[in-house]
Amino acid sequence: MTGTAPSVDAGARLSGVGVGRGGVVGPVVQVRPAPVVPADTPVLVDGAPADGPATHAVLDAAFATVAASLQEQAGRAEGSLAEVLTATAQMAADPALRSQVLARVDGGEPPVSAIDGVVSTFVTMFEQAGGYLAERVTDLRSVRDRLVAAALGLPAPGVPELRVPSVVVARDLAPADTAALDLANVLAIVTELGGPTGHTAIIAGQLGIPCIVRVAGATDLPEGGEVAVDAAANVVTVAPDEALRAELVERAQAERALASDTAAGATADGHPVALLANIGTAEDAERVAGTAVEGVGLFRTEVLFLERATAPSVEDQAATYTRALAALGGRKVVVRTLDAGADKPLAFATAADEENPALGVRGYRLVRTHPELITTQLAALAAAQEATGVAPWVMAPMIATAAEARDFAQAAHAVGVKTVGVMVEIPAAALRAEQILAEVDFVSLGTNDLAQYTMATDRLRGELADLLSAWQPAVIELVASTARAGKATGKPVGVCGESASDPLMALVLVGLGITSLSMAAGAVPAVRYAVRHHTLDTCQQMADAALAAGSAEAARSAVVALADPQVRAALGW
Ligand code: PEP
Ligand code: MG
Repeated sequence: MTGTAPSVDAGARLSGVGVGRGGVVGPVVQVRPAPVVPADTPVLVDGAPADGPATHAVLDAAFATVAASLQEQAGRAEGSLAEVLTATAQMAADPALRSQVLARVDGGEPPVSAIDGVVSTFVTMFEQAGGYLAERVTDLRSVRDRLVAAALGLPAPGVPELRVPSVVVARDLAPADTAALDLANVLAIVTELGGPTGHTAIIAGQLGIPCIVRVAGATDLPEGGEVAVDAAANVVTVAPDEALRAELVERAQAERALASDTAAGATADGHPVALLANIGTAEDAERVAGTAVEGVGLFRTEVLFLERATAPSVEDQAATYTRALAALGGRKVVVRTLDAGADKPLAFATAADEENPALGVRGYRLVRTHPELITTQLAALAAAQEATGVAPWVMAPMIATAAEARDFAQAAHAVGVKTVGVMVEIPAAALRAEQILAEVDFVSLGTNDLAQYTMATDRLRGELADLLSAWQPAVIELVASTARAGKATGKPVGVCGESASDPLMALVLVGLGITSLSMAAGAVPAVRYAVRHHTLDTCQQMADAALAAGSAEAARSAVVALADPQVRAALGW
C-alpha cells in the first residue's frame, strides 16, 4: 500500500466489517499474491542478469526448492490437504517439466516465459485428459507461480504453510482458497477486499473462524506481528495490550457459557423456532452433528464443485451426500442444488464472458445451459437417500418465477425426492411467494442475495455494506410478504441468509412468522439465547417497529428499544 495506508504501530486500530462475534489474538501470516512479472524478466545472480549456465543452476535450484517445500508441507498436513500437497510436490519434481523448461532456456527463451510456456502445455494436456488430471490444473498453475517466485528470489505466493495458530491476512481470498486452508491453525481471517456476505466471509463464519473484511492497510501488517481480531467490534488492533487480551478471553468464556444451553429453539412463551446450521461439506455435517442444532437448513453443495475442472461424478457426489445425511442421523437436512456463477464461477459451467454474472446464468438457471448438472445432482441425492434411508429436503437456488419452481419440483419428484423447496432470494420470488409456494413444499429466504437484488448493490462491495444491510426496511418488507405467503398456504418459510445469525434480527424474523433460522453453527447459541428471552408477542411488536421505520438504522434502534434489558447487556446491543 502507499502513503495513505493507516499506521501499523502498536495499538493502531484498523477498521473493517466483522463477520461473526469472535475475538482472538495471534501472529499475522500474509497470503502473497502470485508474482506478476514480464515474461522476459531475467534471473539475477549477484544483482546482474545470469548467463546460460548460471540460469540453468538457478532453475535447477528453484525446482528442487519448490518440490521440497511442498513435500515438507505435505508431511505435516493431514487428510485431503496432505494428498493435494503431495500431488503438487510430485508435479514440481516431475523430470519432464524440468527438462522441457531447461531445453527452452537453452534455446534462448527467457526463464519466466519458458516456465509459463511449458506449464501451459501441461495444462492443455491435463484438461484434454479430463477426470483426475483435469482437476489438477489449478495445482499446476500454483507450481508455476511458485517456480517463477523461487527463480526470481520472491516470497512464495499463495496461502503459506501455517506452522502455528495464525491470523491469515490477504488482499482477498477466493472461496476455494478459504476452503483449502489448514483450519487447525487458522485463528482468524482478515482481508482488504470482499464483503461481509461474500462467500469467503460466509465460509469463514461457517467454520467458526472470526473474520473481518474491508480492512484498509491489512496487507501492510507486519508478518509474524501479533494482532487482535475482534469481529464483533469490526477492528484489528496491532500489538494489543493486556486489557484488550483479557476482554477477548472474557468474551470467549461468556460465549461458551451461552453454548451450554442445548434446549430446542423456542420463544419465552414456547413458540417453536427451529435453529439449524449452514454447511458446505460432509466434514461440516460431522462437525455440526456434535452441536445442539435441530439439523441443517442449508447445505451449499457448490463447495464440492469449486476448484474442479470437471463436475464430480454421481458416485462422488452420492458419497458426500450419504456421509452428510448419515452424520446428521435423521435430523432435518436441507440440501441446496448447485448455486454456481457470480462469485462462485465453475470452470466447466460458467461462461467467462458474462458481463453481469450476478444477473446472468447462475443458480438454478444453469438448467438452461447445463441441464445435466442438475439431473446428475438429483440422481446423486436420490442415491444418498436410498443408501441412508434418510430423506433430505431439496431446494433450488435463485428461483425467479413460479414456472421455474414447478419445473424443479417435477425434476426432483421424478427421482424420488419427497420434500421439495426453492430459495427466495430474488425480489420477484418474494413478491410472488404465494404462487411459488403453490408449487413446492417450503421456501427458504436467502437474505444475502435478496438484499443484493432488492438494493441493487453488489454483495462483494463492502463499502456499500450499509445499503446491503438486511435491516433495510425494503428487504424486511419482502421477508414479511414471503412469511405472509407461508402463513396463507400453511407451508414453512425459513431464513438461511446471514441475517438469521444476527440475534436481534432473528427476533424480527420470528415476529414476521419465519419458522426456522439457519446459520453458521457458531452463531446458534446467541440466537437461541435471544429468542428464548422474548415472547412471540414482543417479537411481533419488534417486526412491526422494524417495518414502520424509515431507515435501516432506525429499524435496528427501534428493535433494540423493545429488547429485554438483560439480553441487551449480555449481547452488547
Ligand atoms: C443467500 O443468498 O442468502 C444464501 C443463503 O445463499 P448464498 O449466500 O450461498 O448465495
Ligand atoms: Mg444466495
